[in-house]
Amino acid sequence: ERVTVILPDMAAGCSMADMADLDQVEDCWEQLSEVIDTEDLMPVTYVNSAASLKAFCGRRGGIVCTSSNARSVLEWAFARRRRVLFFPDQHLGRNTALDMGIRLDAMPVWNPHADWLGGNTPEAIRQSRVILWQGHCSVHQVFRPEHVQRFRQQYPGIKILVHPECMMEVVAQADVKGSTAAIIKAVEQAPPGTRWAIGTELHLVNRLKQEHPEQEIHFLSPVVCMCATMYRIDLAHLCWALENLAAGTPVGVIRVDDQTAHYALEALQRMLEVK
Ligand code: SF4
Repeated sequence: ERVTVILPDMAAGCSMADMADLDQVEDCWEQLSEVIDTEDLMPVTYVNSAASLKAFCGRRGGIVCTSSNARSVLEWAFARRRRVLFFPDQHLGRNTALDMGIRLDAMPVWNPHADWLGGNTPEAIRQSRVILWQGHCSVHQVFRPEHVQRFRQQYPGIKILVHPECMMEVVAQADVKGSTAAIIKAVEQAPPGTRWAIGTELHLVNRLKQEHPEQEIHFLSPVVCMCATMYRIDLAHLCWALENLAAGTPVGVIRVDDQTAHYALEALQRMLEVK
């Protein structure tokens, strides 16, 4: 069944998703096919990606993941194929694979702007288990290991809670790591007086601060990188989109061609079937 999807500002999006486009990923797949057997390579895309990339995965037996189910999805992928091509967020892919015991040297990073093999040697690709696309979330990129150390020095006993889109050096030092849902749950379940420094998108941290005055919540970085593309969806645009919808003149309607929708849905359905 088709549903209508409305984007209140067509300039809104995700800068991380924009770091992998279909041409680049198709080119990557073609180059990889000269070095390894792509029949044994599972494409996995983070949900923050274009519909065309979800369809790319769907066409090749691949799958979508979220930050909540990334590990289950990688386990699903490895039960079927030897290797994974993970895009667009290298950090989620790396952090999840490290948790599963995959060695760092089996995770080459694919630079889509390099001339050949994403800047890797054929040997590195042959030895790989997870090929990580060189993409990242700018918002989570600002959190650094020194921020963790600073908070620990200043507030002994503080708990560091970070999203797996943060770099591995930060995740390695955290007390708790998890998806947005896991971050919310961790705070909800903590006893009053718990002190947190949280490394994720600022608005979520501010919301948690407001909702949990019984806890002490800090933003992990002294520097803020707002998500300019996501924040384009503001109240004014939402109101405009809803008013037009009510008036029968919908604006910002997203149209996806049937083939793309069909294969993207396949990849999404596989994800929904993963326990
Ligand atoms: S914070 Fe912005 S750039 Fe980062 S994943 Fe979310 S939408 Fe994308």
